[in-house]
Amino acid sequence: MRRKMKDRWNDDDRIYLGLSIKEKLFPTILGGIVGDALGVPVEFKDRNLEVNGMTGYGTYNQPPGTWSDDSSLTLCLIENLIEENGEIELMEKFTSYREDGYWTPHGHMFDIGRTTDEAIERFLKEKNVRQCGGITEFDNGNGALMRISPLVFILCNEKDFTTRKREIERWAELTHAHPRSTLACIVYIQFLIHLFNNNTPARAFERATGTCRSELSKDIKYRDELVHYRRVFDQSILDAKKEDIISDGYVVHSLEAALWCFFKHTNYRDAVLEAVNLGGDTDTIAFLTGTLAGMCYEINSIPEEWINKLTRKQDILDLCERFFQYCYKRAAQ
Ligand SMILES: [Mg+2]
Repeated sequence: MRRKMKDRWNDDDRIYLGLSIKEKLFPTILGGIVGDALGVPVEFKDRNLEVNGMTGYGTYNQPPGTWSDDSSLTLCLIENLIEENGEIELMEKFTSYREDGYWTPHGHMFDIGRTTDEAIERFLKEKNVRQCGGITEFDNGNGALMRISPLVFILCNEKDFTTRKREIERWAELTHAHPRSTLACIVYIQFLIHLFNNNTPARAFERATGTCRSELSKDIKYRDELVHYRRVFDQSILDAKKEDIISDGYVVHSLEAALWCFFKHTNYRDAVLEAVNLGGDTDTIAFLTGTLAGMCYEINSIPEEWINKLTRKQDILDLCERFFQYCYKRAAQ
C-alpha cells in the first residue's frame, strides 16, 4: 500500500515536471531569440540608444526580425541534444553554420565570434573535440555563455552539482575552454534552474550564487577564477550604477550586464530593452537577459508582435516543440 502511494507521488512529480517544462521552455528559448533580434540592428553602437521595438537594417543591414549567431548556435545545440548526438556532431553543425549558413535566418552567416571561429578552424584541422576550444585568457568572450541556456531543460531534474557542471563543461568548452568562461555558464544555468523551480528572482540568485561559491571554491580548476566574479557573488552587481555596467563581449561583463538588466525590471519588455539600450554587445546581452526574463515571466510577457516578426518563426517553434517532447520524455523516465 505504502509503495503504491509512493509511486503515485512519483507519477505526480513527473507530470508536474512535464507541465513546467512545457510552460517554460518556449518563453525561455523565444525570450532569448527575440532579445537577440532586438539587439542586432544596433550592435556596437554607443550607450543611451532609444530602441523601443523590433527595428531592422543598421549594423548588419538585415531586415527586422533577423537574429544572429547567439540564436543560430543555440538552435544547433538544441537540435544536437534532441538527436542525442555527441560533441563531434555539434562542431559539425557549427562548421555548417559558418560555411553553409545552417540555422541562419536568411541562409548565410553574417556574424561569428573570434574564439568560436578559431575553434572551428582547429576542429577542421585536427578533428579533436577535446582540443579545439580556446584556452587563453583572451578567449573569454561570451560565445559559449550565449548558447548554453537549453541545458537548463536537460539538467532541471539532475540533483548532483558535479554532474550538472560536467554537462555544462562538455558543451561549453568545445569553443571556450578557459575556466572563466565555463564558470559564467555554470552560474547562469544554476540561476536558470532555480528560476525554473519557481523561486523568486532574489531567492533564485541567492541559491545559485551560494551553491556555486561553495562548490567551486573547493574545485582547483575554478577557485582562482571566483575573484573575477566578485560583483556577482557578493550580489553588489544588483545595486550597481549604470555607468559601472560594461556592455562589451567579455564574458564577466556580459553576465553582469544581463543580471543587472534582469533585476532592474519586473517584466520581459523593459528588461530586454534596457539591455539593448546599453549599447555595445547588444544582441548577446539582450539574448542573455531575454532568456532569464522569458523563464521568469513566461510566454504572455513577450510582446506577440516581436515574436511574430522573427525570421523563420515557424522553424523555431517546430524545433522548440521537438525539444519539449524530448525533454518531457526524459523527465518521464
Ligand atoms: Mg550575435
